[in-house]
Amino acid sequence: MSIVEQLKMRKKVFFENPYVENVPTTFQFDERLIDEAEERLRRFAPYIMEAFEETKATNGIIESPITYDAQKDVYVKRDDQLPISGSIKARGGIYEVLVIAETVAKQQRAFEQVTSYDEFHKPFWKQLFRTYTIVVGSTGNLGLSIGVIGAIFGFNVVVHMSHDAKSWKKQLLRQHGVTVIEHAGDYSKAVEKGRAEANAQETSFFIDDENSQWLFSGYAVAARRLAKQLSENPTAMNPLVVYIPCGVGGGPGGIIYGLKKQFGAAVKCVIVEPIESPCMFLGIVSRKYDKIEVADIGLTNRTVADGLAVGRASQFVGQLIEPLVDAFATVSDEELIATVKQVYADHHFFLEPSAVAGFSAVQRGKEKWPNGTHFIWATGGGLVPDSEKKNYLTDK
Ligand SMILES: *Cc1c(COP(=O)(O)O)cnc(C)c1O
Repeated sequence: MSIVEQLKMRKKVFFENPYVENVPTTFQFDERLIDEAEERLRRFAPYIMEAFEETKATNGIIESPITYDAQKDVYVKRDDQLPISGSIKARGGIYEVLVIAETVAKQQRAFEQVTSYDEFHKPFWKQLFRTYTIVVGSTGNLGLSIGVIGAIFGFNVVVHMSHDAKSWKKQLLRQHGVTVIEHAGDYSKAVEKGRAEANAQETSFFIDDENSQWLFSGYAVAARRLAKQLSENPTAMNPLVVYIPCGVGGGPGGIIYGLKKQFGAAVKCVIVEPIESPCMFLGIVSRKYDKIEVADIGLTNRTVADGLAVGRASQFVGQLIEPLVDAFATVSDEELIATVKQVYADHHFFLEPSAVAGFSAVQRGKEKWPNGTHFIWATGGGLVPDSEKKNYLTDK
């Protein structure tokens, strides 16, 4: 049975990417954009530190810790603990808002007098930002990140969401003064509407989850920082095996790109997606990238993992990471729900269903790379309200 047949049959699979370069050499993203992201995040650190108490410990740098899971002998990257929005989207989403804020500010003469970016908290700048609108289409967490930081700057933020996005996310955004527009169709439709609306207005910026180099750059910075967080560098003999959940592809794509650039053959990357939404898997193995969607093979794109419920991959990430992904895996909703409970029982921290996808592929990864250090990128859950957590954790 071909791999696409297996996806169509809704099988749980672990599939080695036939297009991977064992020693990665194809890096086609402009590295300067990632350098720039690292620098810009540093420039804005004084601003972030003043706005968000929880970033004081890291001097305004938005970064997450690593937890060791002794039961499973795996490391867990705790992006649920990322400040401000409690998910991987705090990397790319917040970064792109910083790009917009700096772009707007630089058009003002007053910018020449700015010596430290915490000055952007002053009324003059807030009033300026208030005349601009940021528009984004989101399944939830991207909207949350952009909504929270956008509102702090003073921007008007409009988030287009699909109708089935979690209601607590919509509520939280509205509490921050964000305009939430719900769409009956799926996520791609929400993005389309947002793009059309923003392009029609000169004072609007559209953050394009399907095609943003800024988002990608913000995510990629994580890999450089990880190199400093690890106690020792991985080697080709003892590789770092990273498992990462994938939706549209910007987050995992940026991180995988950065990791391969950083560690070369000493890192192995496994992308994990829901059985009903394997858009990156399908895009790469069919080599149709964003020209195919999961509905084309009869899948529903309905999953409890709302952060991964994406039917069509990013316009540029698929081709870019094709030589860098070592394997693809799929996971069922039942397993995601069981893993959310298991993680909570073992460690007393809460990860949302999208965030635990990586756990599902570890066993196969350990068979494939027995000398590896296994590293699960846990991508979110930090803002999930207690009442909602209870729903996930109690038996149904
Ligand atoms: C968005 C998201 C992902 C995947 O990121 P993409 O850029 O959409 O591929 C994974 N986990 C969580 C919790 C997310 O919110």
